[in-house]
Amino acid sequence: MSAVDVIIIGSGPAGVSAALYTRRAGLNTLIIGRDSGSLAKADKIENYYGFSEPVSGIQLINSGIAAAKRIGVNIISDEVVSIQYNGYFTVKTKMLEVLATCVVIATGSSRKAPKIEGLERFEGRGVSYCAVCDGFFYRGKDVCVIGEGSFALHEAEELKAVARSVTLLTNGAVTTSNIPEGISVRTDRIHSISGDETVEEVIFMDGTTVKTNGVFIALGVAGSTDLARQVGAATEAGKIIVDENMATNVPGLYAAGDCTAGMLQVAKAVYEGAKAGTEVIKFVRNNAAGKSERA
Ligand SMILES: Cc1cc2nc3c(=O)[nH]c(=O)nc-3n(C[C@H](O)[C@H](O)[C@H](O)COP(=O)(O)OP(=O)(O)OC[C@H]3O[C@@H](n4cnc5c(N)ncnc54)[C@H](O)[C@@H]3O)c2cc1C
Repeated sequence: MSAVDVIIIGSGPAGVSAALYTRRAGLNTLIIGRDSGSLAKADKIENYYGFSEPVSGIQLINSGIAAAKRIGVNIISDEVVSIQYNGYFTVKTKMLEVLATCVVIATGSSRKAPKIEGLERFEGRGVSYCAVCDGFFYRGKDVCVIGEGSFALHEAEELKAVARSVTLLTNGAVTTSNIPEGISVRTDRIHSISGDETVEEVIFMDGTTVKTNGVFIALGVAGSTDLARQVGAATEAGKIIVDENMATNVPGLYAAGDCTAGMLQVAKAVYEGAKAGTEVIKFVRNNAAGKSERA
């Protein structure tokens, strides 16, 4: 079984950013990433530093990965199925098993998408998963938010500040939350999202419709916490709990990006990755120093 200083799970901005720090400090760094993560769905990004023109999520990922490879980060496409902790970490993927002194979980947050006809077709063309990211494009327009929990309400509030109207669509679910003023609610089951080039309307099971320019999916944020829980790291409300150094309660285990609480944004993921990487360097060096003192 091979061993490395650090395994970073996730090849999105948080994971790659962490790797840039650990590798430049000479650590043997392995990134295991399943796919391109959330950024693959981002058509154009214009709120990240350094680009005079909008950049696509895929462009951003590809150049991040190329930069990491250039400095010697080992990146493999695989899915991590478990982490075990016995003073060191054993990370199992579908294909291999690797030991590491430290692990950074940077697996993003899995956003649950309902099975609604037209949803996938209009992703990036009226269907969005992030009000902070895309709300700006709906200034003065009519939007809907699909969801019923506090995440959906948060997104609806975010959109209320820019959109002409915001309608919460619970898709048959009962919402117990207090609906803020200025947000309408429809509880009918949704049949489909329809339009020509972009979203134009949501059609309900009873044949009635609501005209809209955009549909935001906000069905709560799940995932990522599964891996953390396997090694006893604390989680809350679907997020991994970290301190200001991105450290979890498990020694040597860090988390960064969308899988921790706060903004779902590239800038935040990059900062947290950098911070986690910096802390991993200290941890690995202290660990090595401790071993040579004991020897
Ligand atoms: C449609 C859309 C538009 C957006 N627009 C913007 C924008 O304009 N500006 C902005 O700042 N942000 C935007 N975002 C948010 C941004 O994409 C995220 O905040 C950012 O990508 C988070 O980075 P991350 O590294 O934490 O997670 P991600 O980028 O989601 O990466 C997670 C990584 O973990 C991997 N992974 C997950 N589970 C496993 C596993 N079990 N084993 C191995 N690998 C695993 C994934 O394959 C992926 O490589 C947008 C998001 C979406 C969906």
